[in-house]
Amino acid sequence: LVSRKRKPENTVINVKGELIGDGNTHFVMGPCAVESYEQVREVAKSMKEQGLTLLRGGAFKPRTSPYDFQGLGFEGLQILRKVADEFNLAVVSEILNPNDLEKALDYVDVIQIGARNMQNFDLLKAAGSVNKPVLLKRGMSATIEEFMYAAEYIISSGNDQVILCERGIRTYEKATRNTLDISAVPILKKETHLPVMVDVTHSTGRKDLLVPTAQAAIAIGTDGIMAEVHPDPAVALSDSAQQMDIEEFNEFMDKVRPNQFIH
Ligand code: PEP
Ligand code: MN
Repeated sequence: LVSRKRKPENTVINVKGELIGDGNTHFVMGPCAVESYEQVREVAKSMKEQGLTLLRGGAFKPRTSPYDFQGLGFEGLQILRKVADEFNLAVVSEILNPNDLEKALDYVDVIQIGARNMQNFDLLKAAGSVNKPVLLKRGMSATIEEFMYAAEYIISSGNDQVILCERGIRTYEKATRNTLDISAVPILKKETHLPVMVDVTHSTGRKDLLVPTAQAAIAIGTDGIMAEVHPDPAVALSDSAQQMDIEEFNEFMDKVRPNQFIH
């Protein structure tokens, strides 16, 4: 079902009027984790000023250590919804537990399935049974074929609104947090009809690489860029080192946006 052989035309996903897969570059920006109303609002305000509409933020955080900040849960989703409604933005947020999905639909416009859950088949099937777009991230050790099969789980369960997101894979290289598999973009665009995004924050883990990797992703045909923005990254409760502050975010948009073109 994901195969372009079966459906030659691009799937275009409408998220509150933003048409993902239409050939333009769409930006999904926001903090790693929702920490407070003020924190999310500050990011959302600057996004609005940049003309962006897709607000991300984790309310349920899949942390490596159980002692790290786990997210605000539904309270975090409420904050996202409130801020998004104030600025007329769409909410993109990760859900970890299939049992939370139904309730989360009241707050989110796009359900994110994170790298660590790419092969959580119960979650994939549950996301396949709802009528909301799903942003599916590539597992950190998943092959492109496994990634496509994960999307197949969602679509075969009844939901064809799937956005794929390359977010870097684990290799021996330590200069970056993960290794951005940039060629996954044209491969996925060729093999499937689904929109393909690139998360430059989690793939590189380095603020100094966000602009060049975003430019590379756009040049190679991505449908969208995801990156993390926090009003004060130094005190962020997660991914403190890799989030842009508002000034860096504005510089990022200035540098990346002129390269925007229709593929
Ligand atoms: C995220 O986008 O918030 C996230 C946790 O990313 P990933 O699942 O790619 O690690
Ligand atoms: Mn993060």
